[in-house]
Amino acid sequence: MRIILFGAPGSGKGTQGDLIAKRYGIPRISTGDLLRLAVRKGTPLGRKAESFMNSGRLVTDEVVEGLARERIAEPDCRPGYILDGFPRTIGQAEAMAGMAGSRPEIVIGIEVRPEVLVDRLCGRRVCASCSAVYNIHVQPPAAAGICDICGGELVRRKDDTPEVIRERIRVYHEQTESLKDYYRRKNVFHAVDGERPIAVIFQDVAGLLDAALGRTKASERRT
Ligand code: AMP
Repeated sequence: MRIILFGAPGSGKGTQGDLIAKRYGIPRISTGDLLRLAVRKGTPLGRKAESFMNSGRLVTDEVVEGLARERIAEPDCRPGYILDGFPRTIGQAEAMAGMAGSRPEIVIGIEVRPEVLVDRLCGRRVCASCSAVYNIHVQPPAAAGICDICGGELVRRKDDTPEVIRERIRVYHEQTESLKDYYRRKNVFHAVDGERPIAVIFQDVAGLLDAALGRTKASERRT
C-alpha cells in the first residue's frame, strides 16, 4: 500500500509512520531523514540542502524529487511504503503523480494546532545514533539525555529552535497545506485528530489503512 502521511512539522508523522511500518511491514521514507543523512555525509546534495534546512525553508523540488524517486525505486518499496514529509508542494505532488507506480492510495493528515506544534518541537530530542524521537515533557527517555533503545546521545535538531520552528510552520501554511485540497479532490485524503495519545491516534490510522486495504483487494478481485 502506498501511503502519504501529511501534517505540519511536529504533528507526529514520524511516530505514526514507524508504527505503520511495524504493523504492515513496509518502509517509512522520510525525505527529512534522507536529507539529514546527506548533510552528515557531506555529499554535494547535502551541502546544497543544509542552509535551507537550518533556516526552516524547503529544499528545492528538484533535489527532493530526485531523492524520493531513487528511494521509492528500491526493492523493499515494491509492496508499498509510507511517505513522511513528501510531497510538500503541489509541484512535488505533480512530479510524484508522474512517477511510475507511485499513485498514493491513501493520504492521512494528522491535525494539530500551531501552539501545540511549537511546544512539541521545542521539547523534541532525537538520538544522534539511531534517530529515535523523544520529548522531554511528554515522552522522556528513562535516563536524561540517553536513548532507551541504543544508548546513544539525545540531541536537539538544529532546526528545532523557536525561531526556525516558527519559520517551518509558516512555510507549511504557505506552501504545503494546500495539498490537503489537492488530495481531497482525488478522494484519498482522511484527517485524524493528532492531539490525542499516540496509541489512540494509531487506532484511527490503522482503521483507515485496513479499510483502504480492503478497497484495494476488492478492486483487484474485480479486475
Ligand atoms: P522534516 O524532518 O520532514 O521536518 O524535514 C526537515 C527539513 O528538510 C525541512 O524543513 C526542509 O528543509 C527539508 N525537507 C524535507 N522534506 C522536504 C520536501 N519534501 N521538500 C522540501 N524540503 C524538504
